[in-house]
Amino acid sequence: MRLAAAFACAIAISTAAFAQVTVGRSGWDAIREGRNEEAAAAFAEAIRAEPREASLYVGAGLAAQLLGDNAKARDSFAQALKLAPNFTTASLLLGDLLYRQSDLQGAITVFEAAAKYAPDDKTLAERLARLRAEPSPEKGFFQSPSAHFTVLFEGPADEDLARRAVELLESAYWRVGTALYTFPDHVITVVLYTQEQFRDTTRSPAWAAGAYDGSRIRIPMRGAFEQAPGELERVLTHELTHAMIRAIAPRGVPTWLNEGLAVMFEPDGSRWAESTLAASDTRIPLEQLAGSFDGLSGNQARIAYAESGDAARRLFDEAGGAGVVALLQDIARGVPLADAFQQRMLTSYSAFAASLR
Ligand SMILES: [Zn+2]
Repeated sequence: MRLAAAFACAIAISTAAFAQVTVGRSGWDAIREGRNEEAAAAFAEAIRAEPREASLYVGAGLAAQLLGDNAKARDSFAQALKLAPNFTTASLLLGDLLYRQSDLQGAITVFEAAAKYAPDDKTLAERLARLRAEPSPEKGFFQSPSAHFTVLFEGPADEDLARRAVELLESAYWRVGTALYTFPDHVITVVLYTQEQFRDTTRSPAWAAGAYDGSRIRIPMRGAFEQAPGELERVLTHELTHAMIRAIAPRGVPTWLNEGLAVMFEPDGSRWAESTLAASDTRIPLEQLAGSFDGLSGNQARIAYAESGDAARRLFDEAGGAGVVALLQDIARGVPLADAFQQRMLTSYSAFAASLR
């Protein structure tokens, strides 16, 4: 499961805000068209010419972020705010980035500072309210930290489960990270919810067993975790894979590839996909699985995940981890999927899709 709305929203704001600005125009055009590397180069050049123009640093930061370079993005947004402390778009982007890097308090501080300059800004007020409502140690949540994760949970009754979650996450971190040549540059926050809180917070379909929204992994706790010991590992590995993929390609990844890799890395995921497909004649064309799965019924969703898992497994077998990662990096750079696919997989996207039927 994934929700990318917040990020898309930030991009819509910033490109709209600067549509009129001529300085850096070629950079904004490149961002809008997904040519992220060209955008980064255009903004770097514009900054050399006009080093005091704050909007150029926002553009440079956005391009860096789309290319997966969060450190550069953070520095650029901070520089924009240094030049123009009342620059709300820069505050929104910096706060969102800090939040996605698990720095909830840092994000709240940025939004609070921005709200002093723009008390009537609705987006800012809404974002601030949402982050203030997020579970955190400051709000009385317990935490179980490890090298790469912080697991938040409500009370001592969940402590054993949280500790087990941390162990499972750490081992999945190395397994998935090694296969995808990727290790996120920040601690990932995982929140354990009751079933009800989870539905309210994520608005996920009833079949969802977990969610990753680009910043936090959210898991509803279910009796199943006690009854089926493998279930917790499956759900955590699945959502962690989404976080790893996002570290390579922040957006533009077709859902079947994102979900397919997540299924593939689940313990036993490939076998589950194979047996699920063997037991059903229903097939959904791969092209239809590029968009969201949220509207699917439980049964359609099963098939969609199984097909995705099967497709991802084949890509991995044929092109290896390095090939799949190269494909994701191309997507991050803004190369159209069909072109990237042809180049990295040595077959066309449509031929690959047809071969799955
Ligand atoms: Zn998923």
